[in-house]
Amino acid sequence: MTRQGFPALDRFRLAAAVLVVAIHTGPLGDFSPLADLWLTRVLARVAVPYFAMVSGYFLARNHWQGTTRLWRHTLVLYAASVLLYLPLNLYAGNPVGVRALVFNGTFYHLWYLPALLLALPIARLLARGERGGLAAAGVLYLIGLGGDSYYGLVGQLPGLGDFYKGVFTLWDYTRNGLFTLPVFLLLGAAFAARPVPDARSGARLTLLGLGAMTVEAFVLHGTHIPRHDSMYLFLPLTMWGLFGLLLAVNGGQDRAVRRTATLVYILHPWCIVVVRVGARFFGLWDLLVENSLLHFVAVVPLSVALAFVLQSLTNRRSLPPDARAWREIDLDALRQNTALLRETLPASCALMAVVKADAYGHGAVPVARTLRREGVRLFAVACLAEGIALRRAGIRDRILILGWTDPAQAPLLRRWKLTATVADAEHGRALSAQGVSVRVHLAVDTGMHRLGIPAEEIGTLASLFALPNLRVTGVYSHLCTADGSAENDRAFARRQAETFAHTLAMLRGLGLDPGLTHLQASYGILNPACVVGLAFGAARPGLVLYGVYSDTAKVEHPLPLRPVLSLRARVAAVHRVPAGEGAGYGLAFTARRDTCLAVLAIGYADGLPRDYAAKGGVVLLHGARCPVVGRVCMDQMLVDATDLPAAPKAGETATLIGTDGAETLHAEEVAETCGTITNELLSRLGPRLGLQVLHP
Ligand SMILES: *Cc1c(COP(=O)(O)O)cnc(C)c1O
Repeated sequence: MTRQGFPALDRFRLAAAVLVVAIHTGPLGDFSPLADLWLTRVLARVAVPYFAMVSGYFLARNHWQGTTRLWRHTLVLYAASVLLYLPLNLYAGNPVGVRALVFNGTFYHLWYLPALLLALPIARLLARGERGGLAAAGVLYLIGLGGDSYYGLVGQLPGLGDFYKGVFTLWDYTRNGLFTLPVFLLLGAAFAARPVPDARSGARLTLLGLGAMTVEAFVLHGTHIPRHDSMYLFLPLTMWGLFGLLLAVNGGQDRAVRRTATLVYILHPWCIVVVRVGARFFGLWDLLVENSLLHFVAVVPLSVALAFVLQSLTNRRSLPPDARAWREIDLDALRQNTALLRETLPASCALMAVVKADAYGHGAVPVARTLRREGVRLFAVACLAEGIALRRAGIRDRILILGWTDPAQAPLLRRWKLTATVADAEHGRALSAQGVSVRVHLAVDTGMHRLGIPAEEIGTLASLFALPNLRVTGVYSHLCTADGSAENDRAFARRQAETFAHTLAMLRGLGLDPGLTHLQASYGILNPACVVGLAFGAARPGLVLYGVYSDTAKVEHPLPLRPVLSLRARVAAVHRVPAGEGAGYGLAFTARRDTCLAVLAIGYADGLPRDYAAKGGVVLLHGARCPVVGRVCMDQMLVDATDLPAAPKAGETATLIGTDGAETLHAEEVAETCGTITNELLSRLGPRLGLQVLHP
């Protein structure tokens, strides 16, 4: 269970980029050639394999679906880098021909990018072969090793000398994308399919590997065997330990650091040139160039600073995906709510995250991915299509469909490994009759009379366990008055909980294992009196994960939740409307004074009610409340901004849910204005709204 904390995987990218700078500046060269050899030819050799492993890990976690995107991204990065280093190539008289472009990279550090372009499709292909694929990549690595650190031995073997000579007509070294990178991509990928390793064994393995690699490197360097020193026999072992260690301590991500690392990698040779030119210009040559350590110390901050500047320039240009109107999703708030729920629930009660209806309008995929990283292993959706969408997005944990599933779709349940709810006995028999084995949870009706087998029909429930194609892995029920504050609401919920517990006891008495048992949704957690003394295997909150209550009514056990979603829209136009003039469909608004009307680019197709103005709807502009006026259109609405000290301008952002300056529109308040609860308001937010994810 990782809590948001130290983003080790991303931070180490920056460390790896700095190690690459060390390779190219040799910081310890003036002091101890031996120490410099160790730093730049042993330790720093973990950098490039690490980049490949992280890529492999994240690609595999996403079922390799991002491979093409990463390939294209790498191509663009490479093309930009080629242009960036063209002046230096021209100055140095380096030819930029096909061999440089396709095989070796057009500058000394750029070899990694064409290598990755070659390695990605190879790794993708080999990944289909699972263990066999990894073994094949291992063989390629050994071949590469023979042309690198062990060339003096292996190159002598009959036939192999000619083979390597052939290789060297294309590539300068064998550290390229055919021999070296596939194995590291696949080693990274292997971590995606295993449980998060233990930090201590990762640390032990790293030290062991590094020690062995040190001995190997020093023995080899004492001979004339190496042709180059990028690859060692013990490098994959070291990388396995190191990556496991970083993964074990990783908590969250840091996208900015990730980008900085890439930019430092790309930019540092230019910074070396700048430091040299600057040192000559200012008469600091002895200090900043001749002193290898100070040279390194000058290049690193310059590279990092340049990376930051470039990043802030590109950041400013990035607008939300749909710059018209969008949902802003604060994943930090989601993480915090999840942690809070965990602390609230007893340790024996697992968290089944309800992400139906596109995670209540929050975007099911980013939400589920974030929850997974927080250690959530159970998800619930409303229907088959939602379950398949999560599977396609790489969510491999248990997914329960809470709603009705057409029995004819049993083959799809099986194919996507989704768990169905048995709505009643007839539904259960029909599912079983399809002839494919499916995983199910039995819904028990304890008084809501929606889905479920009546709690008192123990025989019927038991008979469902005996059906040939149903694998009952859970039994659950649902409370229908847990959110009510009246005494009889609470009493009804308590009765439901007791009935459910009794049904479970009866099933167990018949020797049947109900599997995962669950009852409480959000309000069963906020108003826990009804389940006091009863223990179930999981709870199924939806709403509270997103940091909101259904309405403003008091609850027994309030939680300091943080709302995850804000809703924003741009101002499309601003009009001066003279007193007496009408505006909008049906001229439903009439200006009683000279009015400043702001037109917002959001409408009822985005999920707001058509009569929002009549209901008393407001939005925030310049941190102040402005009333919605006239009839809400499908794609626009009008806002009276006359009372603002300064008139708004087109392109500015209005807030419909969330905070702007000192003012906040809580989802509960907006829902109340709309005459509904937040559950409905949020889940109706239209899918055409953009989704801007904060703190990914
Ligand atoms: C929607 C739903 C939930 C989640 O409800 P919240 O009130 O949002 O926590 C839990 N269980 C079932 C059966 C549901 O339909």
